[in-house]
Amino acid sequence: MPSSRIPLSEAPSPGAPAPPARAVAARALCPFVDLSRLLLPVACPCGEPDVRWCTRCAERFAGPPARVEQGAGRLDRLDGVPPLPVWALTAYTGPVRDVVVHWKDRGRADLDALLTRALLRAARGLALRTRATIAVVPVPTAGPARRQRGRDPVRALAAAVARGLREGGTPARLAPVLRRRTTRDQVGLGSRERGRNLASAIRSTRRTEGRVCMLVDDVLTSGATLAASERALEAAGSAVLGAIVLAATPPPDDERGRATTW
Ligand SMILES: [Zn+2]
Repeated sequence: MPSSRIPLSEAPSPGAPAPPARAVAARALCPFVDLSRLLLPVACPCGEPDVRWCTRCAERFAGPPARVEQGAGRLDRLDGVPPLPVWALTAYTGPVRDVVVHWKDRGRADLDALLTRALLRAARGLALRTRATIAVVPVPTAGPARRQRGRDPVRALAAAVARGLREGGTPARLAPVLRRRTTRDQVGLGSRERGRNLASAIRSTRRTEGRVCMLVDDVLTSGATLAASERALEAAGSAVLGAIVLAATPPPDDERGRATTW
């Protein structure tokens, strides 16, 4: 009985003549051909072949950044202080979601260049609000997610933004001071409990008296993570200028981006 792991067409048959040497050599090369296709992605996340990103996807991140904090309910501090100002490049829908998911969860680190260039415009706009050296702070990812991905894409983005600001003459440096410990499962918790859960999970690793910070994250959804990050930085002595994100989930009544102009 043939092994179930070897398709019949590939199983060696004892009586068959030896294949010609060229065919053997060609088959031996195949793994390398396949490997090179893996190492050099040849399609935009939207499916457009032979480019790392296509013009249409690049254009989706190219518009002027828009203020989006009003659409994020959990950014409301409920203490009379206005919510943290947040700028997003675009709405987190359709092909934008594909680009972010491939970049973040499917190993497409080659998209760093596209996303950094786009986010740098928002960073430069926000940097005009201060003359202080800007601490560019990545919103922290929980350890298990970071280990699963093998890298921290948001930290890479923040590092590239800090470098880009410096190259443009703005004093800035990467300040990865926030840590996020693994929290109990958020499933089944109400939004207020989720916020409390997160608030206790994000901490600054050191005192940062007098620093002026810019938070960097990938996607704004409820705003709970950004709010917890802001509170942690303030508790450590920093002032937070605002946050910049690649994309923001449109509010339920704004699926087509009616209220927000990008
Ligand atoms: Zn594309």
